Amino acid sequence: MSEEVKETKTAAPAASENQERERRPRRPAGRFQRRRKFCKFCADKSLTIDHKDPELLSHYITERFKILPARVTGTCAFHQRQLTSAIKRARVLALLAFTPLHKD
Ligand SMILES: [Zn+2]
Repeated sequence: MSEEVKETKTAAPAASENQERERRPRRPAGRFQRRRKFCKFCADKSLTIDHKDPELLSHYITERFKILPARVTGTCAFHQRQLTSAIKRARVLALLAFTPLHKD
């Protein structure tokens, strides 16, 4: 008895077509140049951190009134500490909001 083994192999799908994932390279060639972060208060010595200046402090809080971390703004540790205290003082004086619920 000769058993006929019929292997009906369909053509294997082309492996190269499965590569739909676009892996983002670390440094794409056409990426825009981001400006180097720097501490604004070190660069401009005349600029003082004052809790009575909500306009200045508002640049260092998010739209939900959270304090932005130094790694985002580039502020140095020394000035970030002053900034944090100033923002907290300004909140107590109601010059800045604690939460969006406080904003009228
Ligand atoms: Zn600084």
